[in-house]
Parts: sequence; structure tokens; C-alpha cells
Amino acid sequence: MTVHFPFQNTYAALPPNFFARVAPTPVTSPRLIKLNRALAVHLGLDPELLASPEGAEILAGTRLPDGADPIAMAYAGHQFGSFVPQLGDGRAILLGEVIDADGVRRDIQLKGSGRTPFSRDGDGRAALGPVLREYIVSEAMAALGIPTTRSLAAVVTGESVMRETALPGAVLTRVASSHIRVGTFQFLATRGDVGGLRRLADHVIARHYPYAANAERPYHALIEGVIDRQAELIARWMLIGFIHGVMNTDNTSISGETIDYGPCAFMDQYDPATVFSSIDQRGRYAYANQPPIALWNLVRFAECLLPLLANEKEKAIAESKELLDTFVAKFSTIHQAGLRKKIGLFTTRDDDKALVQDLLDAMAKNQADFTLTFRRLADAARDPASDGAVRQLFADPTAFDDWAARWRQRTGSEAQSGEERRNAMRAVNPAFIPRNHRIEAVIEAAVHRDDYAPFEELLTVLSKPYDDQPQFAAYAEPPQPEQRVLQTFCGT
Ligand code: AMP
Ligand code: MG
Repeated sequence: MTVHFPFQNTYAALPPNFFARVAPTPVTSPRLIKLNRALAVHLGLDPELLASPEGAEILAGTRLPDGADPIAMAYAGHQFGSFVPQLGDGRAILLGEVIDADGVRRDIQLKGSGRTPFSRDGDGRAALGPVLREYIVSEAMAALGIPTTRSLAAVVTGESVMRETALPGAVLTRVASSHIRVGTFQFLATRGDVGGLRRLADHVIARHYPYAANAERPYHALIEGVIDRQAELIARWMLIGFIHGVMNTDNTSISGETIDYGPCAFMDQYDPATVFSSIDQRGRYAYANQPPIALWNLVRFAECLLPLLANEKEKAIAESKELLDTFVAKFSTIHQAGLRKKIGLFTTRDDDKALVQDLLDAMAKNQADFTLTFRRLADAARDPASDGAVRQLFADPTAFDDWAARWRQRTGSEAQSGEERRNAMRAVNPAFIPRNHRIEAVIEAAVHRDDYAPFEELLTVLSKPYDDQPQFAAYAEPPQPEQRVLQTFCGT
């Protein structure tokens, strides 16, 4: 039986050095463990078909749907600051592009689908644990309203992959508005392929920044657009306590989506220096470093485009610098506005920045839980009798009292009622985030007991992060000391 996907592939029509044509490697006995039915429908795919045995074969890479033009994309990248001229999809294969119900072009990619010409020493496979982690966190981010790649499905392959021990193998079907990265541009720039860079830039403009095509200087407008979306994305991460973990240039999407969930994690206790990733020994990608690292990555992007900006190199550098110089203010504006909302302010005053910073400082000093502090603060906005629930999050509860008095004075100067303030705060301060100890418990149950009930339940809770869901109240709680996860590991 042939299965048809409504593919309309454009990346595979770009010059042949942009990718390698390669089919996924079939697996022994694919079994579907999760299908995102709503997303399937949104993409114009038939969920019943995907849930069938043929569907599992497609999602495992064993059977190719009609219309697929499978490729592994080439890219380069700075990994922890060091340039690697050739990376590429070593364990991922793009099946093709579809147009979703909103008219947006979306890539459908299998991750963990076998070796490609870019695999180097890798096996091209993914273990079940990281596949579940990416599924959970990417879908949680989507529900939180943060730009992200999505997860359409997860299958186990019936084969094991060798890591430190033998682990069940799995394939994730990832959906992205594209998989083009800063590293994709670096791949062509480092080879001096100016014609290729122009083709790629034009493709990206048509696909992600169509207004730039009509700008006076389209490539300047492209850089500006990428800067804007990164500033917004990183601000959103910071406001929700998300740590990506591996912000290499090859993990920085040109479309402004969060991509490549590896050793990512949400903070429990607030500490700007938090690092989870086991491979980030020096804290390059610590929580508080994410904005300057995003700028560093954007500088690498702009460097690639210099030949397209102006004929004289000096002029191109000066012009790109002017664009890059806007990042800090753009980030800060979005970040500060978000922080003001988190503490329930409707208006802006000069000293708000200090007010928010003093709360964050007190939280850091008192190991307060990031998510719960803001969530519970919403109740305190309506009724000071609810202060107790916030106070108890601080090692020294009086640290909150001093701040709360100043906060009430400030909010008291605004016209909104306590009820209105509470509702506004609850809409931006989630109750439920994918806490690390919960993710670890889900992985443990799936890997060791073939039990996916905890996975399903966690996904259910995280699909409505801003609702109270009293029956799932325990999921809002931070880990007990013995449950704390101190390190997360790469997706390999
Ligand atoms: P990541 O750390 O997942 O962003 O991957 C960095 C690079 O290593 C990319 O080029 C990946 O395609 C490649 N890679 C990661 N894991 C594997 C694997 N198991 N087999 C082959 N290539 C891999
Ligand atoms: Mg990557």
C-alpha cells in the first residue's frame, strides 16, 4: 500500500551541496508510543493512518510515504565557541514539507532514523529517554506559547542503541517551520560559496521573512528580522525559567523557534548561574548567559552575510554592527515588559526595573522556586491573606515581606482591582512547567517498565500550563531534596 503525504518540497530543490539525499534506515519492529493527533490534523495528515501499522513504519523510517524526498541537511556550527566546518544532520532525515491549516510551510523530519553522510562516528540513532524528553518539553513550550519545533510522534524501534549501556532505540518525528540554522549559513560561508549564500538567504526570506523581499535592502532586513525573533525568543525563555543547555550556532534556528532539545531544563530554585548540562563544564550556557550568547550567535550569522550586504567589506561590517547593536535594547525591552507583567504591573515607571530586580535578588538569596513564586504572587495580588504561600518559598520568609510592602505601594497606584491583577498575572505565570524530576520519572517508567502512563499524564498536565488543575496539584510542586536532578545529558 502506498501512503500519500501532501508534500510540497522546496529545500530539496536548492543546490545539491546544501544536503545529501539519503533514505532512513529501516528498523526491526516499530511500535508507535505516541501520536500527536491534533498536530497531525493541523498538518493535513490522517491521524488514523498514522496510528495504523503502516503509520508506525512511516514514523520509524521503515516505509517512505509517497511524495517524500528524504534528505540530510548540511550545516556547520560553533560548538561551545569552537568552529566545526561540517556537522549536518547525522541522525535526522527531512522527509519533506507540508502546508499546514494556517498556510504555514512545515518540515517533517525523523530524528534517530539512521546514519547519513554527516554521521561521523555516530550511529544515527536516538535513545528513548531523550526522545521522550524532547517530546515533553517541546510540547510544553508550545502550550506555554513559546515559539518551538513540535513533536508529531514517537516510536520505539525494537532495536537497542549503545550508549553507556544498551538502551531502547526510538525515533521522534519533529515538525519545524524549517530546520535552517545559523550553522546552515556558516556551512556555505566557510566554503566561500557566495552564490549559495544568496540562494539560502532568498529561500529564508521567502519562507520566514517575506516582507524583507520588498525592503530597500533585503539582506539587512533579514538580519534585522532574525535579531528581532531571537531577542523575543530568549526573553520568553528567561521569563519562564528555561535553560536550553546547548546554544551552539547549529542549534539556533533562523525562524526564531526553540530547536534541538538536548540537556535542556527548567529551573526550580531561582539562581541565574544555573547550568544543568553535563557537557557544559564552564557554564557557557548558564541561564543568565543566554542573552549574551544569543547575541554572540547573531554576530556569527551576520558575519556569514557580509558578502551580501555591501561590496566593500568595511562598509558591510559597519552596517551589520549597527544592526547587531540593537539586540541588547530589543531584548531588554521585551524582557523588562515581561517581568513587569509577571509582577502584575499595568503601567510603567522608571523604578520598576529595580523593584523586579530586588524580588529576583531576594529569590536567589532565599532559594525560592522561580515558577511558584510568581504563580502564588498572583493570589497575593488579590488578597494579602495569601502572602503566606509565597513567604514559605523563601528560606527567610521576612525577605518577602519587605519587598511585598513596596510592591503593594506600587500596585496601589494603579486603577486595576486585585481580581483583575490576579487574572492578568495568572495568564503569564504558569502553574505547570516540565520539571526535571517529573521528566526523569517518566523516562524511568518507559525505559525500565515499558509503562507510558506517566508520560501520558505529564503531557496532559502540561497541555494546560496556566490552569490550576487541582487534581494534578502535585505536578506543580518542586522536587523534594532527594528528587532533585542536578545534571541533564545530551540527546545523543
Ligand atoms: P546535537 O548535539 O544533537 O545538536 O548534535 C550535534 C551534531 O552531532 C549534529 O551534527 C548531529 O547530527 C550529530 N549527532 C548527534 N548524535 C548523533 C548520532 N547518534 N549519530 C550521528 N550523528 C549524531
Ligand atoms: Mg543540534
